[in-house]
Amino acid sequence: MDPLVEPLIDTPVDLSAGLPVGLSSKFPVGLAAGLPARLSAAAPAGPPARPEGGSGGGTGVDGRTFRATFAAAPLAMAVVDREGRVVTANDTLAALLGTGSDGEGLVGRIAADLVDLASDARTWHAYREVLRGRQARLRCTRRLKHPDGHSLWAQVTVSPLPEEERAVLISVSDISGRRELQARLRHLQMHDPVTRLPNRTLFFERLSAALEAEAYEESGTGRIGLCYLDLDGFKAVNDTLGHRVGDRLLAAVAERLTRCANEAGYARTATPLVARLGGDEFALLVEDSTGTEQLADLADSVLKSLQVPFDLSGQRLSVSASIGVVERHAAGTTATGLMQAADTTLYWAKADGKARWTLFDPERNAHRMTRQALSSTLRPAVERGEFTLEYQPLVCMEDGVVRGVEALVRWNHPQFGTLTPNRFIGLAEEDGSIVQLGRWVLATACRQARRWQLDHPDAEPIFVSVNVAVRQVWDSDLVSDVAAILAETGLAPHLLQLELTESAVMGSAGRPLQALQALSDMGVGIAIDDFGTGYSNLAYLSRLPVSVLKLDGSFVRGFQYENGEYEGADGTGTPPNPADEVVVEAMIQLAHRLGLTVTAECVETAGQATRLRRIGCDTGQGWLYSRPVAPDRISALLSAAAVP
Ligand code: C2E
Ligand code: MG
Ligand code: MG
Repeated sequence: MDPLVEPLIDTPVDLSAGLPVGLSSKFPVGLAAGLPARLSAAAPAGPPARPEGGSGGGTGVDGRTFRATFAAAPLAMAVVDREGRVVTANDTLAALLGTGSDGEGLVGRIAADLVDLASDARTWHAYREVLRGRQARLRCTRRLKHPDGHSLWAQVTVSPLPEEERAVLISVSDISGRRELQARLRHLQMHDPVTRLPNRTLFFERLSAALEAEAYEESGTGRIGLCYLDLDGFKAVNDTLGHRVGDRLLAAVAERLTRCANEAGYARTATPLVARLGGDEFALLVEDSTGTEQLADLADSVLKSLQVPFDLSGQRLSVSASIGVVERHAAGTTATGLMQAADTTLYWAKADGKARWTLFDPERNAHRMTRQALSSTLRPAVERGEFTLEYQPLVCMEDGVVRGVEALVRWNHPQFGTLTPNRFIGLAEEDGSIVQLGRWVLATACRQARRWQLDHPDAEPIFVSVNVAVRQVWDSDLVSDVAAILAETGLAPHLLQLELTESAVMGSAGRPLQALQALSDMGVGIAIDDFGTGYSNLAYLSRLPVSVLKLDGSFVRGFQYENGEYEGADGTGTPPNPADEVVVEAMIQLAHRLGLTVTAECVETAGQATRLRRIGCDTGQGWLYSRPVAPDRISALLSAAAVP
């Protein structure tokens, strides 16, 4: 009889009878139940179709040799029938599985039990498909328990025997050594040698896995938390005491963090993962977190544990840390999103004074995001023409006639709606786009002023006052820009006034002073905006080519009179701050003596206007007269004011 073909099991048997407890209940159905009729029916005893031993296709190898080869092969093998029972097995397999020294002892055993093919549904399914001849091959790695107690990693391959319909070959190789090496390499790859903590790679692997699991599994809280920690002033330790002390300190910090994590995990099922993300940055990841309080407690305990000075072989060192704390639903959170939030929060903790933890604040973040969003779209916005100008009348206090208008820029942002300059002028100054934007404002305002003049030939022409940022004076050729724009629009220089802040003209020397002088020589008016908020010295200002002071709104706000009269302590008016009024009056008188005119900003009430007029203020601007408006509203004013 062919050595490879022991008598095949003729009748289907209940394989579950041979399955270990647990398996039989999970996969209770005998293999035969799922097998095609042809295979599950009694198969004729006798050799399955295979190259006949002996004939060997002319190789001269007979059945005996095959048998001997099979028995002596260093690869553990078994031939299994379509019902899943071992037909024959070699001694190598018996030795590997620890069932004895003789392969014969395995005959009749259920192969799936021997090499653990039934413990997971996918493998079991694939195995059955190979047995049924519907799948070519199965290869899988199993962890097998040796009877002597140790476990081994085995690579199991199940493949049909060529030209043999009724049997498959199972071969098993011990890959424990390779697995162990792989595991050791992986450990090296995934851990930081200085602190022995999981490194950045492992941290991100765990974070991604946790996010996936938390988001889709219903058993946990569905939340995740992170403490992102950075030592304060670690660089100084490295720089002054050397890298060896630095490394020792990092290792000692890692130890304390691990202790905190263990204590935090003690009361719960899972211990937070502590990782070193690089340099002096660490992370504590809390899977299945219960809320911000849990993370706050953890951050607290970490800060507290770091308060005890470190003793590094004789060196006593104190360090503190800043921690960014983020805790949120895992669903909809990405690893990158979580890390960005943690990074921002850590930055806040540092900015707020270090040695503390700070909790992520969505509102604070939104502000930062809009700042970022705005700054990235500023430059193209100038080209796309997303800016417009509004104009606010500057009114002569003596006769109430509009003498000029201040041009105020607005950004019609496609996403955020209309934005006032306080939201973006600072950003534009930071990134330099103010130069381009400022040029546009200047040209548009001058063109508009000239348009009003042409459209209202009977009205007294009004001047336009344009705000100029410091950087425009420094980084652009303001003088030639102004000259070119005046020439192009045909606006007379005395109908243009430029508003600069105190800081722009203070300490002016060199280039800015020359620019101011050249502009003034051209006939252009120069006004100091928001006067009184800085430290300008009036006498000094008068030596600059400045003609107008715009008194900051905060002074006017000090004038609380409703009817222009203060009615005494028992009266109804809010008592004024007399100092304000005295100071403002003195300021106006001094300005006049120095040849400057004074404009008051933010005039909101008739009472304020009356007081200002009384103490000699020349021009007023504010809601009392008009809010900043579109150019056609100014046209309407000019039509009404036209001399008949
Ligand atoms: P500013 O030059 O001092 O302009 C006056 C600001 O006070 C304007 O705010 C105006 O709307 C507001 N205002 C006017 N009357 C009243 C009032 O009665 N009460 C109150 N509470 N406020 C009043 P806006 O338009 O938001 O401009 C803010 C600042 O932005 C301006 O202050 C100016 O420094 C700057 N700015 C505006 N347009 C430009 C520009 O084209 N270029 C540059 N560089 N800066 C500009
Ligand atoms: Mg202004
Ligand atoms: Mg102002």
